[in-house]
Amino acid sequence: MTASKIPEMSITVYVGRKMLLLKQKILSEGRVIGKDVLKVDSFLNHQIDVNLFNEIGKEFKERFKDKKVTKILTIEASGIGIACITAQYFNVPVVFAKKTESKNLDSDTYESEVYSFTKDKSYKVRVSKRYINSDDHILIIDDFLANGCAVLGLKDIVDKGGATLAGVGIVIEKGFQDGGKMLREKGLNVNSLAIIKSMVEEKVEFE
Ligand code: 5GP
Repeated sequence: MTASKIPEMSITVYVGRKMLLLKQKILSEGRVIGKDVLKVDSFLNHQIDVNLFNEIGKEFKERFKDKKVTKILTIEASGIGIACITAQYFNVPVVFAKKTESKNLDSDTYESEVYSFTKDKSYKVRVSKRYINSDDHILIIDDFLANGCAVLGLKDIVDKGGATLAGVGIVIEKGFQDGGKMLREKGLNVNSLAIIKSMVEEKVEFE
């Protein structure tokens, strides 16, 4: 572990070796909102750092290289960009769960209820039955893992489609919230590129 100081952010930095680029971005550009929300709009959730996404995609491929993956499943909107770049390394299509009903969506869908941590309300996600099949091996990809509701909703859709869950790839896991522990206890193969141990008074520390 190395420690350094980013003056603009006044965040003390503890950086492990893996996904150094991602961790450096979090430390230099991330903003802690309240006690438990990390805002990373400048490279992940609003403006997108495509070079970083490429590194993220490569790293997911490396971490799930032993798994059979036929499809990547994510949730709109922030997961889509990461999923698409990652999918290039697996050479598979991406399916994203939709949050709104629309005429464009087939009426025959798998649905699941998800509680949103950042919005503090529940919403339905849906995927057309055309795009999840019993012979699919699905890798779930998402930007953040907090309490695990989004991943559980996506897993529910995978289960309803009779597909196999190959694993769960997360860009930023907030390890001080319960999602990671809960999902791993359920036996899910969760692999997160950066795990934040704590965010106390703007000080972000990784596991
Ligand atoms: P969970 O369902 O695990 O409680 O929360 C995961 C979802 O909530 C992610 O899809 C992500 O969009 C959003 N989310 C949770 N925590 C954060 C956070 O600290 N920052 C941002 N930008 N999004 C978050």
